[in-house]
Order: sequence, then structure tokens, then C-alpha cells
Amino acid sequence: MGKSAAEKIESLRNSIRYHEHRYYVLDDPVISDAKFDKLMNRLKALEAEHPELVTPDSPTQRLVSLPKQGILWLPFQTVQHVRPMFSLDNAYSFEDLAAFDKRVRGILGRSEFTYVCEHKFDGASLSLLYEADRLVRGVTRGTGTEGEEVTRNVKSIPSIPQAIAPKKLEARGFPPSFEVRGEAILTHKAFDELNARQEKDGADRFANPRNAAAGALRTLDPTQSFAHRLDFCPYQLLVDGRMPFGTQSAVLGALEKLDFKVGKARGRKSPVSMDWRVCDSLERVKAYIKRLESKREKLPYEIDGVVVKVNEFAMQEELGFTAKAPRWAIAYKYPAHQESTVVTDIIVQVGRTGAITPVAVLRPVQLSGVTVRRSTLHNMDEIERLGLQIGDTVLIERAGEVIPHVVKVVKPGKQRRPFKIPERCPECNSKIHKADDEVAYRCVNAACPAKRKESLLHFASRHAMNIDGLGETIVDQLVDKGLVKDFADLYHLDADSVANLERMAEKSAQNLIDEIKESKSRGLVRLIYALGIRFVGERTGQLLAENFGSMKKLADASLEELTEVPEVGPKVATSIVDFFSEPANKAVLQRLEEAGLKMKEERKAPRDNSLAGQSFVFTGGLAHRSREEAGQLVVDRGGKVISTVSKKTDYVVVGTDPGSKYDKAKELGVPILDESGFEKLLRL
Ligand code: AMP
Ligand code: ZN
Repeated sequence: MGKSAAEKIESLRNSIRYHEHRYYVLDDPVISDAKFDKLMNRLKALEAEHPELVTPDSPTQRLVSLPKQGILWLPFQTVQHVRPMFSLDNAYSFEDLAAFDKRVRGILGRSEFTYVCEHKFDGASLSLLYEADRLVRGVTRGTGTEGEEVTRNVKSIPSIPQAIAPKKLEARGFPPSFEVRGEAILTHKAFDELNARQEKDGADRFANPRNAAAGALRTLDPTQSFAHRLDFCPYQLLVDGRMPFGTQSAVLGALEKLDFKVGKARGRKSPVSMDWRVCDSLERVKAYIKRLESKREKLPYEIDGVVVKVNEFAMQEELGFTAKAPRWAIAYKYPAHQESTVVTDIIVQVGRTGAITPVAVLRPVQLSGVTVRRSTLHNMDEIERLGLQIGDTVLIERAGEVIPHVVKVVKPGKQRRPFKIPERCPECNSKIHKADDEVAYRCVNAACPAKRKESLLHFASRHAMNIDGLGETIVDQLVDKGLVKDFADLYHLDADSVANLERMAEKSAQNLIDEIKESKSRGLVRLIYALGIRFVGERTGQLLAENFGSMKKLADASLEELTEVPEVGPKVATSIVDFFSEPANKAVLQRLEEAGLKMKEERKAPRDNSLAGQSFVFTGGLAHRSREEAGQLVVDRGGKVISTVSKKTDYVVVGTDPGSKYDKAKELGVPILDESGFEKLLRL
């Protein structure tokens, strides 16, 4: 016999940890990303087979999977900031700014000080800790007093030095340990690329570069290509919680000499430049603000204003802080860009999930350097809130946000007409539905072109029809080439046309065809789930299959009959009725049946009901079967498996290395079974 599962798992974990260190810390990987992913997938598969062997420190446990693909999010650790990270007071006009200047002068009682003007970057603030010349920690601002530790991602930001030679530090007047604070930002270009990728992965787009930067800091992306696209612009330096170098301008100059991205771009690859300036009067500050505003549209990244800071730290200290912000700084915010134009029409778009969104078609208008032709209206409630009709003149705004939106109606059109949601989907002409408690209208046709890819991926997914080879790249091509329009088309694919797809050889094409064919026998439960009926998950699929026994009976079921099924409420029932009332869906089901898919639940042998109504909790590993299997045995006998121990629990089955549930069971006096006791009870 080879190694035990536990041994295999442990050795995989060790090599994954080693490669992670090479990649993320030393920046010197010794295997390809693909190979690394393979290791990770092997570990995941083994752990799925042996859930009892999963430990919190396993590399897989950092992955929190999202329902869709796209960015994976890390559960980050919260850590305390050495010193709170403050926010800034805002000024919205030159009057506000003059008031700030007056206040500063009033407190200081003199005028021998200067201001520093800096871009107000619209990103996510970040604190970096250097110890003994190395970057050891990166923390998001969070609440200001504590943030999330994102060191791993921060290490892949190219404009952040990972280590600085001790000699260099010394020569520049830096101690070996210090903290740098600044803003992590995304250029417009990086932002667009990130969103394109999100879209491709079926994940939500980020509304603006700020959200995207915060998102990129918090991703777990095995290639780190998200975090890798971030830039970092420093604006504060702390040594032992204090500010060295006497002035803000000296700090910025010193940071630049350490290769932080501070000064003008100066031939660096990235186009980001802080372009800061010392101003010895309020007039000069205003001139800086005006000049930057005129350049703002051309900057490769988003700024939402200018931060004006008193330059001399001695003065800063005298000025101190209010409860939330320093008195020595103010953020001058540029006004949002607004223009008025006419709504010439309102159309609807169908999203990937079938949601119907109204969109205003505008008479084209220039807004912060881009021509705006359309603006989403989100939903019917929004149109009502705005009191908007077709023909109205509206104010549109683009404020930091990349997507412009309608602020208000400024002049009702002379020949205005109200907008009504069309009765039929513009993409597929099937009827549009609305659930009572939802804002959105939807197209429920599973084969609607707008959501074809998404539907097919769901259909093929592991818990649905489990067609392994039918991933995103293949589905993209099948749909784009017009080979597959609905689920049923899958079962009529021939190996030749599949072999013609990119990254497909004859053999893999035949494999895919075989897999698709094999999926015909998955059974009713999976098929119901695979259809992607809104609100019908795996569990509901199971209940529906048990109660109706065949697809035909389910399709014919009335609202009343459906709500009689346990756990099926009116919302779910309505969604099911809507789905089956759609002729396009009926046609697909008909063709699936013709293709030979199982549409009936085979009744199992007369049920042994020996465990009817009894509840079981499992803890630890079993020797003779997987926990899943053991659970199924309980369910087959009418019992149920639950995950937490309470007084009402009938049995706790304890295997090897049990967890806290075991202690809980003893504490509550719940009957405890070992594996052989469990087998006896089940008469195995
Ligand atoms: P606010 O979030 O409006 O309170 O503004 C404070 C935030 O502005 C800080 O937390 C920083 O993330 C950000 N910020 C952007 N650029 C600068 C800058 N040059 N100096 C200080 N803070 C800045
Ligand atoms: Zn449609």
C-alpha cells in the first residue's frame, strides 16, 4: 500500500507552503502557476474526500469560494494600527478653503509656515511596516484604529519596495524600522482590465477604481495579477509613531529617494506621479488646485481633489487633531461633473442572470472627457423616484464613479411619455416576469441568449449535471460559434465540431462527448437543479423530485400543489410556475427527454424507516466509510444529519480525532456512538 491519505495531505501542504513562500515572499517561484494550481487542486480533492483531515492551517482554508467564479476573497486577520489612521475634513469651495486657512493662522498666531498640496488619490489607504529593512506587514485602513492584514497581496505591488539596503536607509537618514502610509490605487487602464476580467468570470463589475483597489487588496488570486496591477502612492512616514524629517516636503523627498513612487513619473514605467508642491500662500494653493483641475481628466488615474497640508511638523503638532481628523490638513474636493441632456428613449438590457435593467438613451453629451450616450436607470423604482419620462431633460453626473448616472429631471419634455417595461424580452422575445418581493424584472427563459453561457455553466457544474470538461473556455466557444443555444443542443454535439474548437484535440473532444452522454443518467434531482430555476437550489430540487417523481408532474404542478411541498414557499413556487409556463423552456425539456435524459425519479426499494425522525451529528473520521456515505445511510433510513449538537440531538457519532462536538455531547448528555455502535444501530 502507498501512503495514507493523511500522509499525502501533509506532504502536499508542505510543498504548497514552500512554493507559496518562493512565490510571494522571495518572488522567485520554482514551478509554474499551472503546476502550483495542480498541487492546490489535488489537496482540495483529497480534503474533500477526507473532511475530517481538514485543519484550519491548511493552505486551502484561506480560500473562501464565491458562488460564482471571479475574485476569491480572503478572510483576513484584523490587526491594530500602531497609530490610528485618520480621515480628512473636506472643503467644497474656495470659501471653505479660506476658512481653513484662517483657522490655521488663528491657532498658530503667525504666518511663517507653508502648505504642501498633494493629489487626493481615490483608492484605498494602506499602512506598510518595515522592520530591519524589510517590508513585514501591510494593513488596510479599516476602521482607522484596526485594519485587515493584507501583507501577501501588498508584497506583489511592484511600486512598493520589498526590502531596502541598510546602507541606503542609513545614507538617507532612515532608521531600519518605520511605517509608510499611502494610497493603493488603480490606473484607469488597470481598472478597465480588471472589470473586463470580472465580467469574463461572471463576477460583478466594480463601480469605480476606489472599490476596485480595495477589492484588489483583498483578493486571493493565485496569479496575484489583481494586486500586481495596483500602484502605491505614499503620503506619510512614521518612526516610532512620530514624524521625522521636519517637514512633509522633506518626507516626500526622502521617500522618493527610497524608490517609492512620489515625484514626477521620470521615466518610470508607471504613469502615476504625485506631482506635489510646496505653496507659500493661499493664492498659490488655489492656483495649484485650478491647474490640477484642468489636467484632471487627462490623468491616468482618478483623483477626487487636492489635499492641502501644513508643511512644518512643528506647526502640525501645535494644531493637533479633532476627534476624527487633523486640524493641519484639508481635502479640497472637486465638484462632480454634471451636464444636462435629453433622454431620447428608455430601453432595456438583459443581464447575465436574466435581470432586466432599464437604460436611458441620451442625446450624446461630453462629461469629464468622455462622450456619454447611455446611463443605467437600475430599476423601475429608480425611474419612479426620479419621476422620469421619455423626452425629459435630465442632469447627469459623473463623480469619481466611472458609470454616469441621472441625478434628476431638470425639465419635463413637452411631449414626454412614460416608460413601461416591455412585455417581452428584447433578446429572446419570451415573457418578462416579476416576483412580488423583488425590484427586478426578469427573463426566465433558460436559453435566452443574454444568459446562455451562465445557464450552460450552471447546467454542467459539479452539483448539477457534473459534466467535468465543460468549462468556461469551451462554453464560450460553443455559444459564440453558434453550436449550442440551449441545454438540449449539448446532447447533439458531434466530436468533429468539438475537435475544431481551440485547445481541443480529437481525444479530448471525444472525452467531452462521452461525458455529456454519460450525464444523461444523472437523474431527476440533479436535472431539476441544473435547469437554473430561480430560487431552486439542490435541496429544493431534491424535495421537488421526491414529491412529484417526474419532470412532467412537476411542470404541471399548480401553485397550491407546489406550496404544499415542505420548504417551498410562495416565492419559490411562483418562480417554478413561471419557469414551466415559458414555452421555450417546455421545448427544451421536451428535447432533453427525446435525447434520453432521465425525467423520472426511480423509486428506491421499500424504505427502511428504522431511524425515522432521529437526528445524528458526526464528529471525527470513520474508518469504514466517508462521512458523506454514513450520512446517506442515515437519511435512507428516514433520519437526518445535522451539524451542531443540542439537547434534542439523538446521537452523536464519534470517530477518530473528534472535535468540540464530542465535548458538547458529553456536556449535554447526548447518547454517544462509536463507529461500531453506529453500524450496529444501522444493522450493517
Ligand atoms: P476621506 O476618506 O474623505 O476622509 O479622506 C481621507 C482619505 O484620503 C485618507 O484615508 C487617504 O486614504 C486618502 N488620501 C488620498 N490622498 C491623500 C493624500 N495625499 N494625503 C492624505 N490622505 C490622502
Ligand atoms: Zn430573454
